[in-house]
Amino acid sequence: MEAFIKIILSCIFVAFLAIRWTNNFDAVYDFAPESLRGAKVLVTGSSKGIGEQMAYHYARFGAKIVITARSKDTLQKVVEKCLSLGAQEAFYIAADMSNESDLDRVVDFALKKLGGLDYLVLNHIGSTRIAMWDGDVEHAKWLMKINFFSYIQMAWKALPSLEKNKGSLVIVSSLAGKMPSPLTAPYVSTKSALNGFFGSLRHELAMKKSNVSISVCTLGLIDTETAMSKVKGKVNMPAYPATEAALNIIITGATRQPELFYPWFTYIWTLTKDWIPSFTDYVVQRSYNYSP
Ligand code: NAP
Repeated sequence: MEAFIKIILSCIFVAFLAIRWTNNFDAVYDFAPESLRGAKVLVTGSSKGIGEQMAYHYARFGAKIVITARSKDTLQKVVEKCLSLGAQEAFYIAADMSNESDLDRVVDFALKKLGGLDYLVLNHIGSTRIAMWDGDVEHAKWLMKINFFSYIQMAWKALPSLEKNKGSLVIVSSLAGKMPSPLTAPYVSTKSALNGFFGSLRHELAMKKSNVSISVCTLGLIDTETAMSKVKGKVNMPAYPATEAALNIIITGATRQPELFYPWFTYIWTLTKDWIPSFTDYVVQRSYNYSP
């Protein structure tokens, strides 16, 4: 009887968590789409994948957008589509986030074109392999530069304008940053660094009574072309739609929520890793196809 009650209580608890985090429940409820009309937004890594989908959602909400990535031709097409979807203004700037001088150049461009910033959405990532760590420290340093150092430099550069506009910093992170997964050690390190840095900065901004909110978005596997081609044959887990992930990120930023977990069960994994670590390790390791 006691075991039965425990099972029932556990089920109720899990159901509560599921409802609480499914589709970013609270944030969706509070979200006012009109708050994004005319909002001044810079989205990085927006030539494809989740960043491209975010650009389209912001456009549909009538925002003013600057997008950036390296491939100029693709950016131009995304900007044209943003304008056709309803963006009040849309501009692009080609830049390489591994190049330090490009970072300030991108933020300055957005500040000038839009006359300030309400949202800085940091989303870009450098390319990395899904493979056992092979000791390539140079690759890890290069990835850290793109996936981490560029984020903190751009955030610092944009902060005065975000402060003035009661704006938001939105950081696109990963479950890998909360819960290390195998075959991606350099990537996991960059996402853990983002979680740590922006978690710390959130405290500092709150202590300074800053106007700026920070949202860190924890994503599971998302069906972007890049991710799907990399995980093919190597990973056994479901992928979730990029367009829905993008919308959830935007809503999280607009409602100034500190965190997003998309899909919802990524939150459960962050709990089980501490509660039942050996079970979590077992599941994680069996999600990857590897034979020594
Ligand atoms: P993606 O499709 O590969 O897009 C990456 C974007 O970054 C592209 O626009 C790319 O454009 C740009 N980029 C790459 N290298 C760059 C560089 N050196 N300088 C400037 N821009 C660069 O990636 P995604 O799958 O949408 O992922 C987006 C975000 O979601 C990332 O932060 C990722 O960690 C996170 N996330 C994704 C998944 C997933 O399964 N997809 C899961 C968890 C978290 P160019 O190549 O033209 O530069």
